[in-house]
Amino acid sequence: MAMQDTTTKKTPLVRSIFSTQGRSGRGPIMHEMALMRNVVDTVLDFAEQVHATEVKTIHLTIGFNRDIVEKYLDSMFAFLARGTIAEHAELIVRRTPCMVKCNQCGRVFHIDVYDSTTWICPQCKAARDYKLHSGMEFVINNIEVTLPQMAG
Ligand SMILES: [Zn+2]
Repeated sequence: MAMQDTTTKKTPLVRSIFSTQGRSGRGPIMHEMALMRNVVDTVLDFAEQVHATEVKTIHLTIGFNRDIVEKYLDSMFAFLARGTIAEHAELIVRRTPCMVKCNQCGRVFHIDVYDSTTWICPQCKAARDYKLHSGMEFVINNIEVTLPQMAG
């Protein structure tokens, strides 16, 4: 499989805006793989607890500022879940907006990391003077499973 650089072009921009954001030395592919492994483990644990026969749908919320290349998630999930009751599950990913907090006046506002006209505080007009407020979530919201038919 060719999981290489051309599709990751957008991530350096996101990182340069939030330069304080820590990051391990590992590449984005390993990063996503580790996250998805976590998702698969959690989903299978849950499925086992409720004695599910099949996992149908997994709803994820991923903050916009997470360094995620969304197009890889499905194939990684399929790879990691192969041979389990989750192998045919559908992943539904919702990205939450990137919210920042102005360093000057404390106003919390939404920015579009790809649109520099939004990097200005709507209240005091400070330009690019903010810190990340939210946008780093990585949450499993909901897991839909098939349960065995209950008698009666
Ligand atoms: Zn402000």
